[in-house]
Amino acid sequence: MDYDQAVELFDPALGLEVHVELNTASKLFCGCANRFSGPPNSRTCPVCLGLPGSLPVVNARAVESAIRIGLALNCQIARQCCFARKNYFYPDMTKDFQTSQYDEPICFDGRVAVELAGQVFDVEIERAHLEEDAGQLLHQGATGRIQGADYSLVDYNRAGTPLVEIVTRPITGTGAQAPQVARAYVAWLRDQLRALGVSDVRMEQGSLRCDANLSLSPKGSGVLGTRTETKNVNSLRSIERALGYEIRRQAAILADGGRVVQETRHWHEEGTTSPGRSKEQAEDYRYFPEPDLPQLRPDPEWVESLRRRLPEDPRARVARLQAEWGLTDLEMRDVLGAEALDVVEATVAAGVSPAAARKWWLTELLRFANAAGLELAAVPMTPAQVAAVQALVDSGRLNDKLARQVTEAVLAGEGEPDQIVARRGLALVSDTAQLQAAVERAVAACPQAAESVRQGKAQAVGAIIGAAMRELGGQGDAAQVRQLILETLA
Ligand code: ZN
Ligand code: MN
Repeated sequence: MDYDQAVELFDPALGLEVHVELNTASKLFCGCANRFSGPPNSRTCPVCLGLPGSLPVVNARAVESAIRIGLALNCQIARQCCFARKNYFYPDMTKDFQTSQYDEPICFDGRVAVELAGQVFDVEIERAHLEEDAGQLLHQGATGRIQGADYSLVDYNRAGTPLVEIVTRPITGTGAQAPQVARAYVAWLRDQLRALGVSDVRMEQGSLRCDANLSLSPKGSGVLGTRTETKNVNSLRSIERALGYEIRRQAAILADGGRVVQETRHWHEEGTTSPGRSKEQAEDYRYFPEPDLPQLRPDPEWVESLRRRLPEDPRARVARLQAEWGLTDLEMRDVLGAEALDVVEATVAAGVSPAAARKWWLTELLRFANAAGLELAAVPMTPAQVAAVQALVDSGRLNDKLARQVTEAVLAGEGEPDQIVARRGLALVSDTAQLQAAVERAVAACPQAAESVRQGKAQAVGAIIGAAMRELGGQGDAAQVRQLILETLA
């Protein structure tokens, strides 16, 4: 069934579960390093391997991050809460349970406003709880999937990574825009988490993962239908596409008089979902309070101090910077599209005009980043170095062309801009006698142009400027050279 027809007949209801990997130095319950990758099983210990007799200790920074996330989502923060064992038998967790939270999440009852093309959608947050991640299974065989694998390898590096799982209440009333609202919510969340500094929020590396629940109800009935949960969708675009697909798939089943099966589904980048396991019910996990960990009782005064120190709302920050920098909507969209907001802000803070800062990051440096497959923030040139180059331009020691050469040298790891200018002799010629001599040679080399200028045809000066710049090896200030030629021919 096509999409327009599907949303004509049915109202979609969304439910989004987002797992955020926290960027704490160590894991949630042990001292093992918490970072991406590493040789298999190199970051493990008796606690995250679940060996008998080992005891977990909760990571205070992870608790703090979870509370800060909850505050940013306008949640209530529990006065006391506990961890719970979520029991299941699968080799990605040697303990046969995941330490999570169940009936007492640390954050609950939040609400956020998500904007989409000028329209605001209210998203209610049911809970945001702390839990540990599981290890990874690597299925060896032709497909790389468990079906048809010859054997599987286990890597427990990820086991025990601190996660915050953020769960929305059903989001209704979005109609045909449901997939875009879901995408806008996750984008909003990603921006918030980045501003909080609690996670790398790299969807492609799995530090932000989204499970998208969707059900349909007959138009106007207001009754929630049977939902499916599409697991681990790992890009904003895929969230939108996966939900669009599920709306069409479920609508076709329902319109045909069939029933949607409650199950988890897998998203495939070619544009479809396929069934996974049928969804467990909570009782299948036999949750019970974790006996090895004490209750969490965050001090209300501490929580309030965390609230006071929350960063500026990312959307408000964008609006403020756009006004401060005097950029049009289009110019600001370019900055955001290139993820250049932080570096431009830091460059402006280092003394560069907003226009020049924006120009550097969206031209030379963006080109370099794209060619090298890097994010702008990872380009080997700092905002301070950009400011140093721009200061050389502003003081008349470099023209734009030389400045680009200096920038290339900085990017190639040749050192600081000042050192590069000195070592390569890149500064503009400022010696007046040398400039005058170059101008005179250029005038002599272009007698016809010189005659035209003498007769008042100012546009003829271009040829002489070109000749003088060649005499100067490109290291002349074009405006200054032009002025000297006109004075010479006056
Ligand atoms: Zn460990
Ligand atoms: Mn979870």
